[in-house]
Amino acid sequence: MLPDPLLHLIELLARLPGVGEKTAQRFALHLVAERSGTARALGDALSLLGDRVKSCQRCGNIAEVDDTGGAVCLVCRDSRRDTSLLCIVAKVQDLLAIERSGAMRGRYFVLGRLLSPLDGIGPDELPLERLFVRLGEDGVREVIVATPPSVDGEATALLLARELTNRGVAVSRIASGVPHGGDLEFADQITLGRAIEGRRALESR
Ligand SMILES: [Zn+2]
Repeated sequence: MLPDPLLHLIELLARLPGVGEKTAQRFALHLVAERSGTARALGDALSLLGDRVKSCQRCGNIAEVDDTGGAVCLVCRDSRRDTSLLCIVAKVQDLLAIERSGAMRGRYFVLGRLLSPLDGIGPDELPLERLFVRLGEDGVREVIVATPPSVDGEATALLLARELTNRGVAVSRIASGVPHGGDLEFADQITLGRAIEGRRALESR
């Protein structure tokens, strides 16, 4: 019933998180009908995305590509940050949520995934080597583990506690203000701020 290019757009939009078939169709039809050039601007923005935006080569946050083809994010560029303090998160959305709380004065490291024995994700699948390089480069003395309070998040925190304590780094875990199984991304700023301030030292076992 709909032309192929439109069906293709609907199919692509429906792949986005939280967008179902109906919402995708509503977006697509809106873009076709509206006259203020949003569709073209959106297309231009999307085509630039691949060339101009990458993962930060230091921490995994989202960063803009510079003239040399490298990408270092705004947090890593900020010289006022305490480089001896590093906060480890599972994903970029969690980094952004913690940034909004304003409670983190150090820098970050994004793991990209969590330990998950059931899904076959073991320690070798985590970017630990890159993390260890980062610790040395920045002279990190304290790490705050801000993985989510889920089974996988706790397992990852324990692994990190063991590996980092062995390297002489103090490791703490964000306090349990975030509900178990909850998502950091959706925690409010005050809860997240308190969770960071009320962090506890993690014993390695
Ligand atoms: Zn960065």
